[in-house]
Amino acid sequence: MILTIAGCGDAFGTEGQFNTCYHVEASRGNFLIDCGASSLVALNKLKIPVNEIGTIFISHLHGDHFGGLPFFLLHAWYATGRTEDLTLAGPPGLQKRVEQALDMFFPQSTSEAPQFALRYVELPPNTKSHVNGIDVETFAVCHFSGAPSFALRIEVDGKIVSFSGDTSWTDKLLEASAEADLHLQECYNFETVFPYHSEYVTLEKELPASTAKRILLTHFGYEMFANLDKVTWEYGRDGMVIEL
Ligand SMILES: [Zn+2]
Repeated sequence: MILTIAGCGDAFGTEGQFNTCYHVEASRGNFLIDCGASSLVALNKLKIPVNEIGTIFISHLHGDHFGGLPFFLLHAWYATGRTEDLTLAGPPGLQKRVEQALDMFFPQSTSEAPQFALRYVELPPNTKSHVNGIDVETFAVCHFSGAPSFALRIEVDGKIVSFSGDTSWTDKLLEASAEADLHLQECYNFETVFPYHSEYVTLEKELPASTAKRILLTHFGYEMFANLDKVTWEYGRDGMVIEL
């Protein structure tokens, strides 16, 4: 399994980092974990073949995590003439929110039938599912997005990647990341408590209890970049490639 960080920034492009989007190459097919508003740009910048992405997992319905889907779909329908099936898998309400976003950004864009099969899979909270040969488990976390927000635990090719999504600290993250080969952990602020997000000083206390084999901090805001000299955990940067 090869994981490429197309984007691991916050919602605001702090330090020029792209919105959340992890690209995974696996034997069962390539997939994304999240597709934020700037993610198509990020994928194209890295020359990642987007039509080879068969599944997109979405952690929660915020624009910096799913807002790239209208662009991704339009690109597939009208720019490249994609023929490969595509599955979008995410929280309950995913289909409605994606269709609302499509209609708002590109009215009537869905009126012409797409050339490929587009399938929505709405994943229940706290449940294991099997999507296109990929095992995915959802953990409801503490983050308001108008729908359940998830941490995700994805297993494929005998490897486990877990992703916190966005959330303030919850012990669910210990379950989600148990024995994971890689855990991607949101860390927006250094010490200021920002509702529904994680801050470094709390993670410093809580995260050592995780049994994940490798942990990368992500989703840095201004305060994290201003305190990088104090950060002792490994952190992600856009373009990083990790072989598991
Ligand atoms: Zn969010």
